[in-house]
Amino acid sequence: MESTIKLTPLTEHDQVLLDKIEKEAGTSINLCYQCGKCSAGCPVGFAMDYTPRQVIRLLQLGLVNEALSAESIWICASCETCSARCPRGVDIASLMDTLRREALDRGIINDKKVAVFNQAFLAGVRNFGRTYEAGLLLTHNLKTMQPFKDAELGLPMMSRGKVHLFPAKIKGREQVKKIFERAEKMRGEQ
Ligand code: SF4
Ligand code: SF4
Repeated sequence: MESTIKLTPLTEHDQVLLDKIEKEAGTSINLCYQCGKCSAGCPVGFAMDYTPRQVIRLLQLGLVNEALSAESIWICASCETCSARCPRGVDIASLMDTLRREALDRGIINDKKVAVFNQAFLAGVRNFGRTYEAGLLLTHNLKTMQPFKDAELGLPMMSRGKVHLFPAKIKGREQVKKIFERAEKMRGEQ
């Protein structure tokens, strides 16, 4: 098995994409000198495939698709510890957020369970004005090909009133939908 990565010069397409990511994130990846303070403080770094420092390194090396395909960008909890700790002022949290949006735009979520969860959660909030747990779990399980995941917890949670079969709807649903539409419009105008 090939154990080394052969770097090729950045294609024009990747350079344009990288410039776009930096602009949207409002930060520069070239400021990073790989000290690792961001990774050391990240509360969820242990669960990532690439630590925050490594995600920046992928981008520095022009491996943009690898960064967009990383599970890490979906595991990031947007706590901003990394950005606060970085001695070079790299806004890693913003970069993670931008990478998530770009991956969504490009449909690079494949079997990423956190990304599927993210989308199902937002769809519930958009439609009902608040989260709809049963729908969220069902959508997540079906899309991640694990239909019976946590099924044994369903009935006990329903019987205790923790999960409801039908969605609860809030009064201001239309306003919530407008917030989503406005956010999408703002994104399209960027
Ligand atoms: S803390 Fe800043 S400089 Fe250090 S590795 Fe992370 S991004 Fe790079
Ligand atoms: S913002 Fe994300 S990457 Fe940064 S420390 Fe928090 S969880 Fe880790």
